[in-house]
Amino acid sequence: MESNNSPIYVTKAFLPPIQDFYNKMQGIWDNHLLTNQGPLHEEFSRKLCNYLKVQNITLFVNGHMALDVALKALKIKGEVITTPYTFASTIHAIVMNGLKPVFCDIKEDDYNIDEKKIEALITKDTSAILAVHVYGFPCNVEALEKIALKHNLTLIYDAAHAFGVEVNNKPVVEFGEVSMLSFHATKVFNSIEGGALIYNDRKLKEKFNLYKNFGIEGPEIVKEIGLNAKMNEFSAAMGICNLDYIDEEINNRKIRSDYYINCLKDIKGIKLTDLKKEVKYNYAYFPITIDKDEYGLDRDNLFDKLNKSNIFTRKYFYPLATDYDCYKNKFSSLDTPIAKDIANRILTLPIYGALKLEQVKYICEIIKDLSMK
Ligand SMILES: *Cc1c(COP(=O)(O)O)cnc(C)c1O
Repeated sequence: MESNNSPIYVTKAFLPPIQDFYNKMQGIWDNHLLTNQGPLHEEFSRKLCNYLKVQNITLFVNGHMALDVALKALKIKGEVITTPYTFASTIHAIVMNGLKPVFCDIKEDDYNIDEKKIEALITKDTSAILAVHVYGFPCNVEALEKIALKHNLTLIYDAAHAFGVEVNNKPVVEFGEVSMLSFHATKVFNSIEGGALIYNDRKLKEKFNLYKNFGIEGPEIVKEIGLNAKMNEFSAAMGICNLDYIDEEINNRKIRSDYYINCLKDIKGIKLTDLKKEVKYNYAYFPITIDKDEYGLDRDNLFDKLNKSNIFTRKYFYPLATDYDCYKNKFSSLDTPIAKDIANRILTLPIYGALKLEQVKYICEIIKDLSMK
C-alpha cells in the first residue's frame, strides 16, 4: 500500500509550467499596465468567451464581488429564494445587499435547490431566485426558468462550481439572467483569485463595468455607487496560462472520479451521486453521503479516521448557512430538513488532476476497510 506519510488534501491548486507565466510577465514589464482592463484582462476575457462558448462575460477580482455586483446592478429588492446548502458567499451577498434570504430545501439526489418547493415560498416581496449548481451538478434549469418566468422573478445562478459544465451541449452558465463563476485557487479553474458574470443581455455589460469600477463612467462622471471589484493583470495572466491546461485537468479529474466510483459503488452505506448522460461534468468535487446504520460509522467518525491516515477530506457544506453563528438566531435549519440531514452526512473526498491513482486507491481501501463486513 502507498506510504501514508505525505498528507493528501481535498484539493491542490493547479499551476501552469512556470515558464508560461514568465512569458506573460514580460508583457506587463514592457507596458507597465497592472490593472484597469489592461491587455491581459481583455485577452483573458476573449479566450474565456471562446472556451466557455458564451457571448457576454465580465471579469471580477473574485466570485463573491461578481455576485455582489449582480445583485446591485440588477436592483434586486425584498426577498430572494435560495438554498442553505451552499458556501457562505451566496447568503452573505444577499444579506449584505439588504435583502432577505428565504431558504428552500434541497434534493437528496443532487444537493440542489428543490424546484418543487420554490413556489410555496413566493410572496409579494419575492424578486429573485438565487440557485447554486452545487459541486457543479446542474440545477433543474428548465423548471427554474419556468417558475421565474411565471412569477416574474430574476433568476440568478451561483455557478462558482460549474466552470465548463454543459447540459445537452449548452453551457450551464447560459441559463438564467446572470451566472457567477469563481476562479479561486481551490476551484477547478483558477486565476489565483478571480470571478466572472456571464449573461445574455448585452446591455448589462455597461452596468457591470460601472459597478466594478466605483461607478465611474468618465473622468468627471460618477454615475452609480459602485465598488472596486476589478481583476488585475497578474490574475488575468494566470487565467490565460491555466486555460491551456483546463481540458487536461478536467479529463484527469474524470479518470479519478471513475476510479472512485468503481471502488466505492458496492460499499453499503456509502452513497455516490448518479451522473447523467446529458451533462458534461467538470468533476470539481467528489461528494459521498454516509448512512451510519448501513456503513457502521457516521460521517464525523469517518472524517476523523481518514484524518488519522493523513487524508484531509472536507465536510462541505457543513454547517448549513442557517446554522452559522451570524445567522442561527435569524433563520432555522429545521425549515430545510433534507439540507440539514445531508449536511450531517456529507463528505467530499480529495480530487484533483495531480492526485495519484495509487492515492485514490489508498483512500478507497481505507473507506472499504472501515465498513461493516
Ligand atoms: C468559491 C465560492 C464562492 C465565492 O467565490 P470566490 O471567488 O472565492 O469569491 C461563491 N459560492 C460558492 C458556492 C463557492 O464555492
